[in-house]
Amino acid sequence: MIRALIFDVDGTLAETEEAHRQAFNVTFKQAGLDWHWSKELYRDLLKVTGGKERMNAYQAGLTQAHPFLNEAQIADLHQQKTRRYGQILAEGHLSLRPGVETLINRARNSNIRLAIATTTNIPNVDALIQCCWNLPAHEVFEVIAAGDEVDTKKPAPDVYLLALERLGLGPQDCIAIEDSRNGVLSAKAAKIPVLTAPSWYTSGDDVSKSDWLVEDLTDPLIAQLLGTQLVTA
Ligand SMILES: [Mg+2]
Repeated sequence: MIRALIFDVDGTLAETEEAHRQAFNVTFKQAGLDWHWSKELYRDLLKVTGGKERMNAYQAGLTQAHPFLNEAQIADLHQQKTRRYGQILAEGHLSLRPGVETLINRARNSNIRLAIATTTNIPNVDALIQCCWNLPAHEVFEVIAAGDEVDTKKPAPDVYLLALERLGLGPQDCIAIEDSRNGVLSAKAAKIPVLTAPSWYTSGDDVSKSDWLVEDLTDPLIAQLLGTQLVTA
């Protein structure tokens, strides 16, 4: 029996990366930086998990002379970016990916518990859930494990292990739902079976370690997974 579904947030619940990218670019502009992240560049930068880490990686790769931002400045910019992201979501410019709402309702009706294991931070999770469900995050997801609560982000298993600890469940009682290579590796490192539905930004990822691969969460395989115990790969 599956007792819980543990969802990634970015790219899994919604195609949030476009809203993140816009928030970064507006923040850079307002800070007087000439940084601008195109869709293609951002797809590359997403290989680095975590917003602050991503800015540091971008800065480290700049070849021209630039004012070097220290750790405090990066953290400050990242806070501004998080606020901007919240505003974009508050304006309602983001919707759930296909099948997410149905899956969550189906899980609820089957007494399957709902959790989140994400690299993003709590304010981003709150903003997304408020935008898409018009409810506080904890009214939709019983357990939320976020990137800022663990030492090492995905692909390390930490955030999934934290979700399991808070659920009080073992890894084989759960299914992780992911969209990216880092997410799949993180869940597998925590020994949780993973179903992957790649998003636009992760469509080129190697997600071959997934137990199940679908285009999106409308796939009939999901109903089978919730209804029966499948043997995982
Ligand atoms: Mg993701």
